Amino acid sequence: MRPVKKSSNNQSYAPDAAQSFSGAVAALLQKIDGVATQPNYTIDLDRVLKLLLERAKGLPIAGVTAVEQDVLVTGLKQRVTTLYKTAALPLTQELGAFCAYCGTALPGLVEVEHTVPKAPYPMYATTWENFLPACGPCNTSKGNKPDRITATQSSGIHAPDETDLRNTIRYHCYIWPDLAPDCYRRLPLKLHYHDSNRWIELDPATSVNGNNQLTAYDVIQHQILATIEVNHTLLNDVPVTVVVDCAAHDTVEADTIDLTGLNDDSSSIYDRRQMNRTRAWFDALEECRLLGTAQSGYDLDLLWKGTPRRAASSGFYAVWLTVMQAYGAHYATRFVQETKNSLYYPQTNTHSLP
Ligand SMILES: [Zn+2]
Repeated sequence: MRPVKKSSNNQSYAPDAAQSFSGAVAALLQKIDGVATQPNYTIDLDRVLKLLLERAKGLPIAGVTAVEQDVLVTGLKQRVTTLYKTAALPLTQELGAFCAYCGTALPGLVEVEHTVPKAPYPMYATTWENFLPACGPCNTSKGNKPDRITATQSSGIHAPDETDLRNTIRYHCYIWPDLAPDCYRRLPLKLHYHDSNRWIELDPATSVNGNNQLTAYDVIQHQILATIEVNHTLLNDVPVTVVVDCAAHDTVEADTIDLTGLNDDSSSIYDRRQMNRTRAWFDALEECRLLGTAQSGYDLDLLWKGTPRRAASSGFYAVWLTVMQAYGAHYATRFVQETKNSLYYPQTNTHSLP
């Protein structure tokens, strides 16, 4: 996970405080308010969110039938979706087109991910502070977790209000890249290989052995094969994978991995986060080998010119940093310094990085 400095607000994202509705939604809102029917009806965004909160709490909306509530809620949710989606471009501008969780480089659509999920906690559905850019698999994996019952229990507060629930989720239960400068260190990455029916973790030095090579990227089999050198022996075409180090159960780290499904070795070939992360490992290793051919500081500077660009194209900042750190600490330090800009990895929070 790449720690980022995210602004508390962004001038390019400013949803209107007054929201005008027409059609069935306007008619139902006017029915609730007991006013004469007009083609258009305007209410505060805050009220839109409060009506959705009633629904999230399982409470009826007074003044309309159950069927009408469904129509109203659908209309209000559509409006909220339209509003928060306008944050996609400002988010990309500010933090780069990378998934905030897995690090995937996003070629097109950036999903506006709600750290505090919008369905159970609609009061934060349009709040800039609550957004991060994400890929589809991470966003889907996270879904509506944690639900209100889970967050209430985690808060330890008898009757938590919306702020209490939000603070519980954001400050106590998980690791977030915009709030935890040490997220990179707390979710370390490890290269594993498969042998004798089990996955075996490689130590950092063996993980970046100069003879390690990617040999196959098999989407159908959902598998990455590599040649790796272990104890001076080359193992040819063994399955490899990069996992986020599985912390002990019931830790904030383990809960974060579970929440985002970072180690899901999904049966779906559409979720290739782990495969791509593993490929990025070997991309970074190849880059290190290239840099390692430099015979002088001048050579290294020449070779280094393309490094930040190739890293940003590959994505997976944390993978690149991990490989560089294991290969040569000076590479890691230079990588951090030269990529923290709008061309490569904008707004990286380097406070706790090498
Ligand atoms: Zn992702």
